[in-house]
Amino acid sequence: MSVDHSPRPASGALTKTGGFLSGFSHTLQPYIGCRFGCAYCYVKGLNVHRFHQPPLAWGDYVHPRIGIAEQLRKELARLAQKGALDELAVFMSSATDPYQGLERQWRLSRACLDVFADYPPRLLVVQTRSPLVVDDIEGLRRLGDRCWLSVTVETDRDDVRRALTPRCPAIPQRFDLLRQARDAALNVQIAVSPCLPYSNVADFGQRLLDHAQRVIVDTYVSGDGLGGKRTAATDVGALYEAQGWGDWRAETEAQALFNWLYAQRGDQIGWSQAGFVALTQST
Ligand code: SF4
Repeated sequence: MSVDHSPRPASGALTKTGGFLSGFSHTLQPYIGCRFGCAYCYVKGLNVHRFHQPPLAWGDYVHPRIGIAEQLRKELARLAQKGALDELAVFMSSATDPYQGLERQWRLSRACLDVFADYPPRLLVVQTRSPLVVDDIEGLRRLGDRCWLSVTVETDRDDVRRALTPRCPAIPQRFDLLRQARDAALNVQIAVSPCLPYSNVADFGQRLLDHAQRVIVDTYVSGDGLGGKRTAATDVGALYEAQGWGDWRAETEAQALFNWLYAQRGDQIGWSQAGFVALTQST
């Protein structure tokens, strides 16, 4: 199998955002592509043919964006001069996982955290599913309440994880990283995004509440940005059929989980886009 890990120079760092992440001012992507290669990832539809001839499959390329921290420093210095740092709400990352395996070699996400420590934004959300983020707990802590760690945990069933996202970290590893983040007193959110088949509401729900202050529940239809059309273009439908999981568009299980969580913790539980964006309004 051909895999491309070649670096690409970063011509900039922050990207103005809107749409699904409209409450955030910018996104930050230290890598192009993602080795986790989730079956439901709709980013592949946006990027896959851009760099490679012949095209590589989504998940078979990751390009470290060399110099991204230096670019970020320049951009934040300019914003600081204008007194605009407090307007900055950054989502790292929306089109890659900032703590996938290559981060161990390149440490681009860590370098960006170091820059943010010098120029703190109003809000930085670090979105990952990787235990590698534990290496940077101190970097996250330096930002105090300006920083939230958001960890993707779509199910508590590792057999479901293996069927849909076999290259992603196992579910027990994610709860372990969550424990370490909570022990370090980080602000922690769990993104059940998208909600996949899980054990039962009370067991999964309690586990989520035990490991995070906030939980977001999302679905393919509510969360892919096009009412499920992007997901329909992926292998998800065929995989659900093969596993006998029923209709991937159904939101009943996700809604039941959301209702249960909401009954326990009210406003700290969010649904889809509104849930993600609420964080930008509460800081
Ligand atoms: S970790 Fe995120 S960016 Fe990477 S393949 Fe999965 S959904 Fe896509």
